[in-house]
Amino acid sequence: MHLVIIGNGITGVTAALTARQLDPAARITLVSAESAHHYSRTALMYLYMGHLRYQDTKPYGDWFWAENRLELVHAEATGLDPAARQVQLSTGQRLAYDQLLLATGSVTRFFNWPGQQLRGVQGLYGLPDLEKMTRDTQGIRRAVVVGGGLIGIELAEMLHARGIHVTLLVRESRYWELVLPPEEAALVERQISLHHVELRLHTEMREVLGDADGRVRAVVTTAGEELPCQWVGIATGVAPNLALAKAAGLATDRGILVDEHLRTSVPGVYAAGDCAQHREPGPGQVPVEQLWYTGRMQGETVAHTICGQPTPYRRGLWFNSAKFFNLEYQTYGRVPAEPEEGTSTFCWQPPGGGQLLRLNFRAAEGHAVTGLNALGLRQRHAVWERWLQQRVPVQQVLRELGQANFDPEFFRRHEPAIRRAFARQFPDLAVDAVPAASTAGR
Ligand SMILES: Cc1cc2nc3c(=O)[nH]c(=O)nc-3n(C[C@H](O)[C@H](O)[C@H](O)COP(=O)(O)OP(=O)(O)OC[C@H]3O[C@@H](n4cnc5c(N)ncnc54)[C@H](O)[C@@H]3O)c2cc1C
Repeated sequence: MHLVIIGNGITGVTAALTARQLDPAARITLVSAESAHHYSRTALMYLYMGHLRYQDTKPYGDWFWAENRLELVHAEATGLDPAARQVQLSTGQRLAYDQLLLATGSVTRFFNWPGQQLRGVQGLYGLPDLEKMTRDTQGIRRAVVVGGGLIGIELAEMLHARGIHVTLLVRESRYWELVLPPEEAALVERQISLHHVELRLHTEMREVLGDADGRVRAVVTTAGEELPCQWVGIATGVAPNLALAKAAGLATDRGILVDEHLRTSVPGVYAAGDCAQHREPGPGQVPVEQLWYTGRMQGETVAHTICGQPTPYRRGLWFNSAKFFNLEYQTYGRVPAEPEEGTSTFCWQPPGGGQLLRLNFRAAEGHAVTGLNALGLRQRHAVWERWLQQRVPVQQVLRELGQANFDPEFFRRHEPAIRRAFARQFPDLAVDAVPAASTAGR
């Protein structure tokens, strides 16, 4: 069996490593245009800030691939002939496959702004973007970042680290409004202003203005204001990279359409990771998942099916983590930006600010805890996974909250204050009234 994988990101590489374990005799080829070897995309910002060197972002040494008989092709796949089971490469070579996995990731989304082609206007997705950003932000004084999500705040932090003044334009009324409840967003906004980044809410970019050399000189906002700047970061989201799939006539929508086994509309061709769209997402799952750990899970799952062990993709518990400047963020389970019918929410913040803990729970299900947000407080993944999967009552979670605390021991412990605040907000749910039996069997 010759398995060809397009894309050496976390999805493609996990699929290759899993397939190697499951089928020691298989021939496996990884094709990637971006880099000769797999690197950690999430570390891009640390390269720019000088915290890491490129070689530090590679989880495997360059010798690893030959040692595991994984063939690497550093080229772009420019065409796909499903009938002949061949991939066309930019080198002119044709690569025959028995099974093909498309793990082509995402691309930055642009919205046809006038002037977006000017030099100094770009997104941040891969190494070529980082090179451009490094070149074009050399010695500049002012930048504008468009978009209030995770990549937007990363760009702001990167530029700030080099002493560049940043204005962050956010269309919504608060930072990451579609994801964060108001209290969480306010805490992040505080971080943003503490780092002297100018946050403009309710503001969009209308156009980019250039100078005589074709370089950006200003951004015009929808309010008509002209913001002088020498660089513009586009962080208005990413979209699945469909170029190859579309050219080959595979069924696509927002992403490459796949069934629960990550099979596309064409026999022998699979898609996984950021580029895939699930036709029928499981309960609580979204059709397009654009995260590191979901890429890894999908890569592992699809390799089983490809190697003759059909395995449906089941994501399991939702979680995510990020860092907003110095503020760490973790989320587990369901914590939507707006309250949900039938779900109660408890939000604790200390008087001086800087931390937040939110618990969601459902009265109709024995007050089972359904979600957690933590900002500035480190929580243990394994403990939360267990509590959410076992639908543990919120009173018990509060009583045992210390078990989930992952902050170093000299950090101030907040559990007593959190329990007192809970008792004030939900006097009927006495934390001590949890029946002892509910802790049994764990
Ligand atoms: C700046 C940044 C920070 C991020 N931080 C986080 C984070 O903190 N946590 C988190 O969970 N997620 C984060 N993400 C998202 C996460 O990195 C992605 O979800 C993940 O990398 C997707 O993996 P993938 O393997 O599916 O695709 P990718 O990593 O995009 O890999 C796809 C590869 O395929 C290559 N390719 C595409 N088409 C072709 C072709 N035709 N021929 C050859 N090669 C091709 C691409 O060049 C690319 O190298 C971040 C993303 C970015 C951009």
